[in-house]
Amino acid sequence: MSVIRSLLTLGNRKVGESIHVWSLPAVRTCPGATATCKSVCYATRHRYHFDAVKERLAWNLEEAERETFVGKMVKEVRRKGCLVVRVHSAGDFFSKVYAEKWLEIMKACPRPRFYFYTRSHRVPEIAPALESMAALKCCRAWYSIDRDTGFPDRVPPNVRVALLQVDENDEADSGDLLFRVRKLRKKKRLGLPVVCPSETPKGHDSEINCGSCGRCWS
Ligand code: SF4
Repeated sequence: MSVIRSLLTLGNRKVGESIHVWSLPAVRTCPGATATCKSVCYATRHRYHFDAVKERLAWNLEEAERETFVGKMVKEVRRKGCLVVRVHSAGDFFSKVYAEKWLEIMKACPRPRFYFYTRSHRVPEIAPALESMAALKCCRAWYSIDRDTGFPDRVPPNVRVALLQVDENDEADSGDLLFRVRKLRKKKRLGLPVVCPSETPKGHDSEINCGSCGRCWS
């Protein structure tokens, strides 16, 4: 008897168990990746080395490339009654066609809240689909930046900017949200962006996650 596999999984410790998650193999699906983000990417470490995880992400990518992807995802989001969907806990919008598939999914499912962080805004042919997603009421779009990307020349309406800080000397005075690598999480921060609370000692101790925080998707 064949088992029908779901596309979405329920979130982890960071995301929280109330959020549905979609992921792809990191780096190979990240056309906007930088040397900086690749050097600290959590989706290339730890559990992502397990065969089962690698197989699952490869399967997801195959599904994403199929013509049936949009219909299958729409059906699943509706059937599961998803409230919040994180698009790409690992991976990114790897092509224009694939980004347009997500635009179609979001248009067909206006009730749940979709959110994503992406460096594919750096790829001119993918950027228009990202902007169209950001314009939807059901979507929260974040452009990811770091010291290699610099601040985008243009930030489209409804898009917020998330800065990755990997070194104390990295400028951290622009953007709407700051992610910091583990070694910086106990350091005092000077600058404007709000630090992701799950990456602060206090937030970590109180086990805050994206479901309980909501800053990125609410
Ligand atoms: S700011 Fe909140 S919602 Fe955004 S990543 Fe951090 S914990 Fe999650």
